[in-house]
Amino acid sequence: MNKGIYIHIPFCESKCFYCNFVSGQYDEDLIRKYFKSLTFEIVDRKKFFDMLDTIYFGGGTPSSVDVEHIKKIFDVLKDNYDFQNLKEITIEMNPESTTEEKIQFYKELGFNRFSLGIQSFDDKVLKLLGRLAGVEKIFKVLSLFNENDNLSVDFIYGIKGHKLDISPIKNFPVKHISAYILTLEKGSKLFGSELENDDIEEEYYFLLNQLKNFGFKRYEVSNFSKEGFRSLHNLSYWDLSSVYIGYGVSAASYNGVERIKNSDDIKIYIKDYKNDIQKEIIDENKRNVEYLMLGLRKSDGLDYDEKFLNLVNRKELDHFLNEGYLKIENKKISCTDKGFLILNLILEKILV
Ligand code: SF4
Repeated sequence: MNKGIYIHIPFCESKCFYCNFVSGQYDEDLIRKYFKSLTFEIVDRKKFFDMLDTIYFGGGTPSSVDVEHIKKIFDVLKDNYDFQNLKEITIEMNPESTTEEKIQFYKELGFNRFSLGIQSFDDKVLKLLGRLAGVEKIFKVLSLFNENDNLSVDFIYGIKGHKLDISPIKNFPVKHISAYILTLEKGSKLFGSELENDDIEEEYYFLLNQLKNFGFKRYEVSNFSKEGFRSLHNLSYWDLSSVYIGYGVSAASYNGVERIKNSDDIKIYIKDYKNDIQKEIIDENKRNVEYLMLGLRKSDGLDYDEKFLNLVNRKELDHFLNEGYLKIENKKISCTDKGFLILNLILEKILV
């Protein structure tokens, strides 16, 4: 059971064309007001645990704001929580706003995991996606990290007319890789374009092969790590016994019973973080659905037991087992590589 804190920093240097997250370029005045509200929320909101295992600063791009803002939030967390058990403290960064000085500052503060948005090693793709940093800058930033660092990088694949090639990664001390399929949601600049590739099978197996050759093992549908470098914080989102508190605009919390989500509107959030909060009770039915949906995202899968069998359509289950999309090993059921590629379809069919 993990107890984690998520801090949302909704600012970026520019808006990527595929992005519909709660993030954007805002002026200094708004940034100051936002951090004031964020500080207030941390101090004011009722907590449901004290002792922390993980902290995650995500966004947006936390590295795009002045380091003093990050320090202030870190100090407020320290004053309000018990850091004794803290194992993992992550900060998301993007190459255009990452410097040697910033990395050093974060390390001195206590951050011990860095998550860098790379997305591609192809300048044409980076341009297409509206990314600010090109390959040369990405290489420079990657070389600021050393073998002792716990460094994660993100990639995007499934872009029509392109094939992701992560081979330069072998020259850098990367311990963890997240690889996401391009999904253009409403609200993103590229929504409605035909950039999403429906036929990604060849690219998918090419990527899996590269990951394997470079020593990365899958532990979740989109996450791969070297031995001992799974993200504890991310894992907690796929484990219903873990709890987390999210602070900031659009941040979500889960106390084991209820999921609470802050407003997506930064202005509403700044005025009063308690406005426009959405609450969802996770009743037994929802819990069971999530148990299946989250469990099958993980390579470790779920216990193949009575509980599992009572939640699924046996005929559909047999089909996916017989066709090699699911496998049972050591009394656990999980997706095969072939299965992970169609996970949503599997879930849709087996859920009763
Ligand atoms: S850096 Fe990330 S959060 Fe910011 S605009 Fe790009 S994709 Fe969105």
